[in-house]
Amino acid sequence: MLAVANAFVGRLRSVVEKIVNVNPIRYIVNWGKLYSLWPVHLTTACCSVEFGAANCPRFDVGRMGVAQFFGSLRQCDLIVIEGTVTKKMAKRVKKIYSQMASPRYVIAMGACAISGGLFYNSYNIVKGVDKILPVDVYVPGCPPRPEALAHAVLLLQDKIRKGRVNITDGE
Ligand code: SF4
Repeated sequence: MLAVANAFVGRLRSVVEKIVNVNPIRYIVNWGKLYSLWPVHLTTACCSVEFGAANCPRFDVGRMGVAQFFGSLRQCDLIVIEGTVTKKMAKRVKKIYSQMASPRYVIAMGACAISGGLFYNSYNIVKGVDKILPVDVYVPGCPPRPEALAHAVLLLQDKIRKGRVNITDGE
């Protein structure tokens, strides 16, 4: 009986793999993902003030489908690197990223996250978070305004909308 059930699941999987990137289905799956982004609650530097403002009523990125910061990494699929990342913190950032749900997305917020910014010549700074994580969207500025972060969310959503669905994500 178990063998029959496994054979059925195996066939179901191959059917899903074949149809998931057919346009209406791909659109619906991506639509679900892009309007339910769950950001990790992680702060590495002072850009976090603008990140907080973007979540408050005046700018309210929640209306674009970005949920409030969430404590459990199992549900999170978006990490916004809020400014400077020190080499000591880089290990923790990578660990947090590895524990997030897949597919997962990265926004590098601020000059410090993009290139080291003000602290470029410092011995203990990661000179661009793209050296440790695959960045999807960069938000320049020091600090970037909340509107710039909102624009980054729109760009990320556009990228998700056009992307292919990979059912092996997270395995
Ligand atoms: S970009 Fe500016 S505001 Fe953001 S972490 Fe660096 S120094 Fe702070």
